[in-house]
Amino acid sequence: MRRFAETCEAVAATTKKTEKVRLVADYLRSLALDDAAQAALYFTGRAFPRREEKVLAVGGSLLWQALASISGAGEAELEAAYRRHADLGEAAAEVLANRPAASGLSLRDVAAAFEELAARRGSAAKRGLLKELLGRASALEAKYLVKVITGDLRIGLKESLVEEALAAAFGRPLADVARANMLTGDIGATLRLAASDQLREARLRLFHPIGFMLASAAETPAEVIEKLPDGTLVEDKYDGVRAQAHKQGEGAKLFSRTLAELTEFPELLPALRALPGEFILDGEVVAWRAGPLPFTELQKRLGRKQPGLWLQEEIPVSFLVFDLLYHDGELLLDLPLAERRQRLVALLAGSNDARIQLAPAQLCRSAEALQQAFDVALSRGNEGLMAKAPGSAYTPGRRGQAWLKLKRPLATLDVVVTEVEFGHGKRRGLLSDYTFAVRDADRLLNIGKAYSGLTDAEIRELTEFFQQHTVVDHGFRRSVEPLVVLEVAFNNIQRSRRHSSGYALRFPRIVRRRTDKTAADIDTLERVEELFARQTARRAAKGS
Ligand code: ATP
Repeated sequence: MRRFAETCEAVAATTKKTEKVRLVADYLRSLALDDAAQAALYFTGRAFPRREEKVLAVGGSLLWQALASISGAGEAELEAAYRRHADLGEAAAEVLANRPAASGLSLRDVAAAFEELAARRGSAAKRGLLKELLGRASALEAKYLVKVITGDLRIGLKESLVEEALAAAFGRPLADVARANMLTGDIGATLRLAASDQLREARLRLFHPIGFMLASAAETPAEVIEKLPDGTLVEDKYDGVRAQAHKQGEGAKLFSRTLAELTEFPELLPALRALPGEFILDGEVVAWRAGPLPFTELQKRLGRKQPGLWLQEEIPVSFLVFDLLYHDGELLLDLPLAERRQRLVALLAGSNDARIQLAPAQLCRSAEALQQAFDVALSRGNEGLMAKAPGSAYTPGRRGQAWLKLKRPLATLDVVVTEVEFGHGKRRGLLSDYTFAVRDADRLLNIGKAYSGLTDAEIRELTEFFQQHTVVDHGFRRSVEPLVVLEVAFNNIQRSRRHSSGYALRFPRIVRRRTDKTAADIDTLERVEELFARQTARRAAKGS
């Protein structure tokens, strides 16, 4: 465990991905197979393989109590340490700093302790075990034990990098490692297959969910066409929760994006069972009555594990299916989307149950056609469009450019321009890049930078205006008097250290100039915080 923790420290200390991969690969290679399999798992920040439904069920407060008790540090000291690091693992290392460095705790000991922790019921029993485990660890080991228990190492090591490290450690093609990991849902098992050169033997197992393919955001229809010039299959973007359906014989289950079983929609299961053969479907569960209902309706059903019949009738749901990943013994991931879709159409053809529906798709070849489809999708009450490359394979767990999402904006904010920069290309010589701020009492706090949305004429006019209202000229960049108010649309809000507001707008675009408003009328930081909280709650509900 000491060397695992030291490797984590070294991985955290470098920002270079190749170096991270090398460190992990060297360490894994140096271990016996059982230990290497265990370490690979912990590097992904998990106590148990993804395919197992086992969980530790150890929350922050249990960890907190165990740490306070074994460190001898009072709650206040632990709190102070936590406040300094905002990470329970780091705080653990601090309050346990005076322990001996060598503990003798092995990876096998940790695995055994995790098994026990998962098996024990009740917090008193778990607390005792936790105290015993953490009590044996050095400060550095405790830091990483806590991080694995909380599910996130925070050392910049995504699962895909652990896959790269396996490929490097055993000299196998990365694609084979990634595929085996996706199919087994177990990085430790994947490591064993890599070690014995049997990666290609990995098999899909029904009722063990595979990672969901994810989409990248596009800002405009033109960007979609630029990225997918040969035409794109376009579907509505439904505002529900993503689900993967597995069916075999009399069994049918739905899984969520976190790969946990989705039990809130039992009425979908008989409809899945009624379809012929065995399969895995990908789609979105949507609140539906003759058409899509808003996400806020569906939200009322989330977290209700056994919804009564009245709730099922009050808020009916439908599974809008857009992909077929496996059918009657055949894994279809590598087939082009257009072909997977044909097979999906055939599979669903015999069904006339409104609870399982094929998500309609059309081929679009121009920005105009996409814009039209986008407007129609919004008018149907959907969130926007998904544009998919017809020739693309299904890449589980990956976010690539084969699926692009075009969303209606989250909201708009009225902001004031505080800094301007000269543009590039055809906007050379024009002040076309605008940094803008929201208001917090009488302070202006920057929150983003927008380049697009205004016409050339408006930009020329603003260039002249900003030249006359420059406060400080930094050459390429100018601070300007806060006089120009813009309405900006955006897709989401992120926390960010780049801007003084502590937030950044993602994909901001200028909707229009608000010549009727002054800096005193713009939106406030409070409103941003409110939108951010709403977005966070929504994401949590969707499990993304
Ligand atoms: P991300 O999925 O990119 O992490 P997010 O959780 O905010 O971000 P969205 O931005 O809503 O998700 O975009 C992707 C999601 O859109 C998918 O995970 C899926 O749940 C949903 N979706 C709705 N309709 C479709 C569709 N036709 N094809 C694929 N995904 C769709």
